[in-house]
Amino acid sequence: MLSNVLSRAARTAAPTARRSVTTDALAQSLMSPFASQSSRLMELMPARVKIVEVGPRDGLQNEKRIIDTADKIELIEKLAYTGLPVVEATSFVSPKWVPQMADATQVLEGIQLRAGTSYPVLTPNLRGFESAIAAGAREVAIFAAASESFSRRNINASIEESLQRFRPVMDAALQQGVPVRGYVSCVVACPYEGAIDPERTMDVVQQLFDLGCYEVSLGDTIGAGTPGSISHLLDICNRRLGGDLSKLALHCHDTYGQGLANVLMGLLHGITTIDASVAGLGGCPYAPGASGNVATEDVVYMLNGLGVETGVDLEKLVDAGLFISRKLGKPPGGSSNAAKAILARRSKEDAAAMV
Ligand SMILES: [Zn+2]
Repeated sequence: MLSNVLSRAARTAAPTARRSVTTDALAQSLMSPFASQSSRLMELMPARVKIVEVGPRDGLQNEKRIIDTADKIELIEKLAYTGLPVVEATSFVSPKWVPQMADATQVLEGIQLRAGTSYPVLTPNLRGFESAIAAGAREVAIFAAASESFSRRNINASIEESLQRFRPVMDAALQQGVPVRGYVSCVVACPYEGAIDPERTMDVVQQLFDLGCYEVSLGDTIGAGTPGSISHLLDICNRRLGGDLSKLALHCHDTYGQGLANVLMGLLHGITTIDASVAGLGGCPYAPGASGNVATEDVVYMLNGLGVETGVDLEKLVDAGLFISRKLGKPPGGSSNAAKAILARRSKEDAAAMV
């Protein structure tokens, strides 16, 4: 995808387009007040972005309030109805560790599956994988951390041990033709170690690819990343992956209000898969103050404005966010500014219609 984007850019813009994905040139272009510069940047935008909705799993598992199974199912169905190509449904993890996901089987079995949407589930071990497949899962996900301390505190295993643990899951999945997505957490920063060396992050990414993952999601789990650190990381990803980021996804949290800016930086570097959570649900229990994932509504609004296709109906997405924010006792639309603005516009229209 990156090469397509770049060749498109090369046809219409500077012959040095390849260089324009480096940090320096991007930073220079972003600071430029000239329209010609901004249209050159638009040439770097992908025509289409795949959004991976992680609200029902990553989002709800980090919310304090436990949601009824029927409401989880309704949320997932509403999200699929918006046109989202991927809705991560639940996690087959021990209820002792994550009580919010104790009903994984009932949730997965209860969903009316929609053609064109996939419903991956997190499977941290073989037992989880087997339960997931028995409940109808057709795609699964595994996870590792780029930070040694985070890995030990989060799952009580070193990075290497955690990767070894996934091997039986991977073998079983490959044998059954089940695609496996990988997550790497703390890709730019860790609550215990501070900044993480991007080369270290890429080592873990590469190990997940070597295990057999078809896609790896780069998670800024604590939301400490900025367009600067994300750009630096993606420069290194581009170098290590030969300029092809089509198998990487970017997973940003909005703790410091950098989520959308980081997503935009990802797109400029050739990322075409973005993880997001409806109503900005979620957080990170191991990182005090870490707020939720970047809100899907905000990402879709931004991509619409950039002319990037997502296939997602923003109005229906706002309905799904309104539904779950009510169930969680949160403000309508949760932490999504786009959702709040659209809901405010709707209530104004409703009031006008009643006059
Ligand atoms: Zn997340």
